Parts: sequence; C-alpha cells; structure tokens
Amino acid sequence: MEQADVLIVGAGPAGSSCAWKLVRAGLRVAIVDRAVFPRSKPCAGWVTPGVFEALALDPRQYARQCVLEPLSAFLTGLLDGAARRTDFGAAVSYAVRRTEFDHFLLRRSGAAAALGTAVDSLCRGGGRWEVNGRWRAPVLVGAGGHFCPVARHLGARPADEEAVIAQVAEFQMDAGEARVSRAQGECPELYFLPGLDGYGWCVRKGDWLNVGLGSEGGRGRAGHLAALLERLRRTGRLSAARRPSFQGHAYLLRRASRRPAGGAGVLLAGDAAGLAAESSGEGIWPAVASGLQAAQQILDAGGDPEKLRVESYEDELRRRFGPAGDAHGRAPAGWPERQAARLVFSGPSFLLRALLERRFLHAAA
Ligand SMILES: Cc1cc2nc3c(=O)[nH]c(=O)nc-3n(C[C@H](O)[C@H](O)[C@H](O)COP(=O)(O)OP(=O)(O)OC[C@H]3O[C@@H](n4cnc5c(N)ncnc54)[C@H](O)[C@@H]3O)c2cc1C
Repeated sequence: MEQADVLIVGAGPAGSSCAWKLVRAGLRVAIVDRAVFPRSKPCAGWVTPGVFEALALDPRQYARQCVLEPLSAFLTGLLDGAARRTDFGAAVSYAVRRTEFDHFLLRRSGAAAALGTAVDSLCRGGGRWEVNGRWRAPVLVGAGGHFCPVARHLGARPADEEAVIAQVAEFQMDAGEARVSRAQGECPELYFLPGLDGYGWCVRKGDWLNVGLGSEGGRGRAGHLAALLERLRRTGRLSAARRPSFQGHAYLLRRASRRPAGGAGVLLAGDAAGLAAESSGEGIWPAVASGLQAAQQILDAGGDPEKLRVESYEDELRRRFGPAGDAHGRAPAGWPERQAARLVFSGPSFLLRALLERRFLHAAA
C-alpha cells in the first residue's frame, strides 16, 4: 500500500492548485487522474488574471512555454442579433489552451502523479482513506470534476442535477484559414442565447480557434450550435470547409449546486463541489481558488483529519462564490431579470461594459 499525507483525485486546475500549495508546505501529496497528461479538456480556456495572481505565476513566464492570448476587448451580442465591441484598452483576461495549461500546472505542483488511473473504489476506516486498494492517506481531496468519484461517494447525483451542458471544438487553423479568419486574438466573441440561459463563443488563440456553446440543461443546443456555426461562417470567422468536431461536458453553476463541501477527512474542490460562476460559467478561477483554500484548511488542521473543519471551508466557499442552490436548485439572485437584461445589448454602451465588468471580469471578488 502506498502512503501519502494527502491524496488528491483529479489533476485539473483544482487538484493541481491544491497539490502545489501542499507540496510547498512539505506534505507528501499523491495526485491520481484517469487521463494521461497532456489531456484534452472541453473548455474555452478563458482565464481571469486572479488565476495567475493566486498561483504566483507570471503570465509572461507561462507564455514562454505555452500559448497565451491576452484579451483586451469583447465582441458581444445576442445569437440572433447584432454584436458590439467593447474595448478595455489593456489585457483584462487571457485565453489558454487547456491541454497545455493543465499539464503545466500539474508539473509545477511537484506532486507525485499517478496518471492513466481511474479511481473506482474508496473507503474510510481507522481514520484513513483507502483508494483503489493501492493508496492510503488520512486526508482526501475530491477534485475529479463534475463526475468526481469522491463527490459521488459523498452523495452527489450528477444525473439528477441541472448542469450547464457545453460543447466545444478547438483546432489549429491551417495557414490559409489563419490568414483570412476575421476572428481576432485580443477580442473573444460571445453570442447570448435568446433566453439568456447560455451563450456561444469564438475565441482565437494564435492559430488556434476555439468555438463552443453552453446552456443550462443543454436546452435546444443542436439548433443554437447550428445557428452559431452559420453565423461564424457568414462573418468570416470560420472557413466554409471546416467541420469542427465537438466534445461535450457538463458542470454546475454554484447556484444550482447542492453538493456538500466535504465530509470526514475529505474536502471537495472545483467542479466536484459545483462552483462555477453565474452568467459567465467561469469555472477555472473557482477551481483554483477552492483548491488553494482546501490546501489551507488541511494545513490549518496540521494534516490531522480530526481537526479538518469542513464547516469553515464551506463558509469560505460561500463567502467567495455566494450561496449554493436552494431547495429547488435555484439561488435567490440569478442573472437579474433575464428579459430586461436583453436590453443591455441594444442600450447605451456603458451598460454592456458594466455587464462585462461585473459578470465576466470579477475574478478577484
Ligand atoms: C465546454 C466548456 C467550456 C468552458 N469554458 C470555460 C472557460 O472559458 N473559462 C472558465 O473559467 N471555465 C470554463 N469552463 C468550466 C471549466 O472548464 C471547469 O470549471 C474547470 O475545468 C474545473 O476544473 P476542475 O479542476 O474542478 O475539474 P477538471 O478540469 O474537470 O479536472 C478534473 C480531472 O479529474 C479527472 N477525473 C475524473 N474522474 C476521475 C476518476 N474517476 N479517477 C481519476 N481521475 C478522474 C479528469 O480526468 C480530470 O483531469 C468550461 C466548461 C466547459 C464544459
């Protein structure tokens, strides 16, 4: 049996961030992921500056090894209406390729990684967790994303949850496509669905193009995706010949999540806890922030599972990400007055700017 002070399930941003902090504090950390890294992860790859700050990572250092596109403007509109550009004059966010970003964070964490290994059995006895009959550790962190086996062990039922269902394709344009594409690296494009319950996007990262669409419950997604692709072709973003191959995935908005923050000797972080932000669906920052916070709780407990305070971790998640869902899976304050919000797209430009600043660029909140 292999021993660790902390065993982390899932090597996405939540697991790697947690591991990074614990390893730096001198703990023996094992991180297990069913995928072999670098692995692809369905995601637009939009990250707010708070992610880099929280990880003490200089974006310029990251850009020396990986694709990093600074974002200084947004083109936004309704999927069935006109779009307008809002310029911020300087980088307010970044776009990364998740396949590179997650691999970078995992290597940087310094944790012992067991990759290509799915966690399929968990039990706790004598104050220790035993995983796959191979590892034993007093403290466990569930960071395995929406379908995390640790979250399911604690009672999460993904099939019964109202998740955001999203589809994405990321591909490298050939030289001809890259030259003529009207997608601009500094300006991601967001096209909101008529009911404002999701949006499609087009994000250029160097020669890479990322196109996708996410909506709550995935309602009407085939029609919306077809409309998005038609628009991107008509407006010269996507070449007529390109047939992107889409991958799908799900995640929970914080207000729709009723998952626990942890249990005896265990904490959940990132999508496993259901933390993505309202309106924007931003999940990378919550994953990193909760991973670091979980590490802090473990350090505060001196690695002793009996001293691990799940309630105080839950309080911290509530303080940072707002209340979790109510009995109906709906938070009291969602996107305010959805239909009225449609006016933002046709009203004065300062309204649109305020919406982007408040709902999309709030990483440090
Ligand atoms: C299409 C799409 C677009 C998105 N775009 C954005 C965006 O632009 N910006 C943003 O901030 N957020 C975005 N999100 C949300 C964001 O991707 C997630 O919130 C984020 O990846 C959560 O990180 P995590 O570390 O919690 O989980 P993940 O990144 O999902 O990592 C979980 C890891 O656990 C592993 N795992 C799962 N099950 C097991 C198992 N049984 N055993 C071992 N390992 C296991 C997986 O292989 C995976 O590597 C998007 C989501 C989708 C679906």
